[in-house]
Amino acid sequence: MKPIIPEYLVCPVCKGTLRALEGVRQELACPACGLAFEVRDGIPSMIRADARQLTDEERTKMKRPTPKEEAR
Ligand SMILES: [Zn+2]
Repeated sequence: MKPIIPEYLVCPVCKGTLRALEGVRQELACPACGLAFEVRDGIPSMIRADARQLTDEERTKMKRPTPKEEAR
């Protein structure tokens, strides 16, 4: 079963909108401050100390609009 990640979650650091990262691990990423919060068993760990820094590549990817967003 795929965990449901609420879309209204905001970054605990800067209150920016978090985006779900599709990858090996489930993570919620904040493009604004470049942090990623791991989702464990469907529950996002919204602790600053648990967050990891996004790589430059990941941040660049998130700045580009996805094809879905462009269509709006
Ligand atoms: Zn942030």
